[in-house]
Amino acid sequence: MKIGIIGLGLIGGSLGLDLRDRGHIVFGVSRKESTCQRAIEKGIVEQASINISSLANVDIIFICTPIGLIYSTLKQLVTDLNPEVIVTDVGSVKTPIVQQCSALWDNFVGGHPMAGTAEQGIEAAQKNLFKNAPYVITPTEKTPKNSIKILENLAQSLGSTIYNCSPESHDQAVAWISHLPVIISASLIASCLGETEEIVLKLAQQLASSGFRDTSRVGGGNPELGVMMAKYNKTALLHALQGYRQQLEQIMDKIDKEQWDSLEELLTMTQERRSLFISPPQ
Ligand code: NAP
Repeated sequence: MKIGIIGLGLIGGSLGLDLRDRGHIVFGVSRKESTCQRAIEKGIVEQASINISSLANVDIIFICTPIGLIYSTLKQLVTDLNPEVIVTDVGSVKTPIVQQCSALWDNFVGGHPMAGTAEQGIEAAQKNLFKNAPYVITPTEKTPKNSIKILENLAQSLGSTIYNCSPESHDQAVAWISHLPVIISASLIASCLGETEEIVLKLAQQLASSGFRDTSRVGGGNPELGVMMAKYNKTALLHALQGYRQQLEQIMDKIDKEQWDSLEELLTMTQERRSLFISPPQ
């Protein structure tokens, strides 16, 4: 197939490497000329340009720009695009993107390859990033079935496991397992920093070890990504935070009332059921 990729960073670059490996012809578009040059040097694409109209003759286009630019990129793209061309995106939040993009382009299929690293930009692109990772596809009732199938086949060829669901279910699920943990973890760090007793604060910093390292990791990540999650997945994240607040209040109440048996029951349940998220039944 002839494949276009817009946004040659971590995700777009990694897709290019794998798709070329599978024998496809890949054309790239990025914002900077220097990134386009680098993409050719690294073998990510056969040709690259800063001009979006260079993708007029491809079969499918992956929009891999930062999330806030996906819709405006599609708007620029569709002016001279043949209606047969499938357009998909890789954005980490789906509801607002799928709503806007499907209204603009009938042949739009929302997608989210759930793989990544802490790095960004073209130098972070790597082969096999999507192997054994989930690839979520979020069609609407109107999405052409054949276009969904083509995207599924491509994602499968990368070694990904395909999941199909509505954009809303995707956003609520990632709010629980990805976006909520970032906010909780950030709140943990901020709460500890709120200790007013200088000696205690310093001692806590000196004593912090593996438990703190594990629970604070995602709260100490890229602030831009955290803001993106909150901005584009506000409703689902607030729903998850409300559930979390309720849970926290119940735990505080048990501790305050010294209901140790009840607290132990809860902690036994969480100990047993954590595995449902870490290695779920298929
Ligand atoms: P990234 O490494 O920063 O790559 C995005 C690239 O887009 C940049 O390197 C930039 O390249 C290019 N770009 C920026 N504005 C552009 C424009 N107007 N037109 C064309 N290209 C433009 O970010 P990423 O991590 O790959 O994320 C990209 C998308 O993947 C996001 O929508 C994100 O939600 C999604 N996603 C990310 C992850 C993750 O873990 N990172 C996982 C799954 C999905 P130049 O400026 O160098 O040209």
